[in-house]
Amino acid sequence: CLDDLPVFLQALEGRPYPAYKDLKGVWRGEDLDLRFVYVQGDPFATPSVLEVRYPPRLLEPLWVHTRPEGKVAVEDFLLRALRARLRGLGAGGSGRSGEVRVEVESPKVLKRAGAHLAPEGLFLRFRVGLPAAGRRILGKEAERLFRALVGHLRGLLPELDRAALLRHVRQAEDFAFLQERLPERGLVAFVGEGAILPRESGVSQRPLRGAVPFQSPPALRVAFRVPHAGEVVGMGIPQGLTLITGGGFHGKTTLLEALVHGVFPHVPGDGREWVVTEATAQRVQSEDGRSVRGVDLRPFVHDLPRGQDTSFFSTEDASGSTSLAAGILEALELGARLLLLDEDTSATNLLVRDARMQALVRRETLTPLIDRVGDLRALGVSLVLVVGGVGDYLELADTVILMEEYRPQEVTAEARRVAAARPTGRTYGEPRYPLRPVDRAPLPQSFDPSRGRKARVKGRGLRELLYGEEVVDLSALDLFEGGQVRALGGLFRRLQGLADGRKPLRLLAEEVLRGEDLFALEEAPELAGLRPLDLGAAANRLRALEVRQVEG
Ligand code: ADP
Ligand code: MG
Repeated sequence: CLDDLPVFLQALEGRPYPAYKDLKGVWRGEDLDLRFVYVQGDPFATPSVLEVRYPPRLLEPLWVHTRPEGKVAVEDFLLRALRARLRGLGAGGSGRSGEVRVEVESPKVLKRAGAHLAPEGLFLRFRVGLPAAGRRILGKEAERLFRALVGHLRGLLPELDRAALLRHVRQAEDFAFLQERLPERGLVAFVGEGAILPRESGVSQRPLRGAVPFQSPPALRVAFRVPHAGEVVGMGIPQGLTLITGGGFHGKTTLLEALVHGVFPHVPGDGREWVVTEATAQRVQSEDGRSVRGVDLRPFVHDLPRGQDTSFFSTEDASGSTSLAAGILEALELGARLLLLDEDTSATNLLVRDARMQALVRRETLTPLIDRVGDLRALGVSLVLVVGGVGDYLELADTVILMEEYRPQEVTAEARRVAAARPTGRTYGEPRYPLRPVDRAPLPQSFDPSRGRKARVKGRGLRELLYGEEVVDLSALDLFEGGQVRALGGLFRRLQGLADGRKPLRLLAEEVLRGEDLFALEEAPELAGLRPLDLGAAANRLRALEVRQVEG
């Protein structure tokens, strides 16, 4: 029983560290239970995992949500509240002992393994480094730490900021509502009036202080009536091809970046609360050196010298153009309805072929994206493209947004006039191969982490996942928390169990992420939710991936 914990800890004073293992199990208390889920073997190891459970009778005030996304927001809020409460708490000790850690890494409202609201109660998980001096237990220190800890845990629900909880949940629910309605309004994204898009720095997620608030151009202004906030006004980006253009440093990339982030809801105060992007949006870019497995690349890359076939294309070391081609086709295969591209990070030879090069080069092996705009439209896929240097797209665009001093203007008509007055002279031929994403079904061994010597699975920040012997390069993915990278490890293992060489990756990724059992995936509290598209994109970067092409 929880009341016995202090005495129990005191009695461990001076004993060898592994004696802490006896803590394992549930310590029942009056208004909360504490469970030692995982107890570390030594003070230098990853800290222990604790779980607090609050009984259902205390949870009445937490049921404020009206839809599943709202429940995720309640959980996200509670974990943030716990983190705020436990900040500064800790004890002395060797290694990482004494450390108290609640993981919430970004201002995104995500499913998190650290918080789980269920009929059986509210479960919150976090890490505590059990105090030690060298390899001896600091029992008195531990007792002090746990007294303080349990006090904070008891105070958490009674002292919760209910107004802030409501703001948090309502924001996420309005976001979900608006995101759902984008298609019926013919839009792929919405950027609310007054939004703060730029961040403090490349490594910070805090809003840039003194930034120019977002101002929607009248021609693109739309209004939504959302359940909680009432009417919100902002810029709607229509379906089809949208160009974001403007001089250097006028905020083009910042706008695109905000759209990339806008697939997830943000916490109140972030500045991007009302940036709402089509849920299946995917940014694609060139990735020199990436691995590509069994993609039918012919819509973009074909008829290579010496008859090399590209209908089942694999490489260990893709070029700028082949990686971009593969990225686009994989995104379509995984069900993306919106592609986001920046000229800065896209191989030019896959974006365009201008009139001069068309005239000079006869044995063309690349079909540039510009010749696929109509095909994308036919597939119902939209494209937002940032272009500063390439004017060839002007006449094809449905919408042209010009950024000036961080303010967007709608210049579609002007762009058409310019295009008509200065024809590019390029010809639009009928591409040889249809644009048709081919489903690929992975084989289970693709996801076997023990193919190498050791089945290690470890996230390394946002950019790398150590999976067995392989370091998976995720730097081109849009993952926003280390916890999303970590979750990939467990999700890959689930893919291993489900893959059979027949089921398409698209369906596998959806199946694995269906339901809300991130909490059950692993004991680790750090895991954070991601989209099937993100999981699929990560799988596509596994060098060990083996696939069969299947009929969709
Ligand atoms: P571009 O892609 O057009 O060259 P960027 O989007 O990279 O321009 O923006 C250039 C700089 O301007 C960045 O440092 C960015 O933080 C800053 N910036 C972008 N939007 C704003 C804004 N609304 N207010 C203030 N600074 C901004
Ligand atoms: Mg830029």
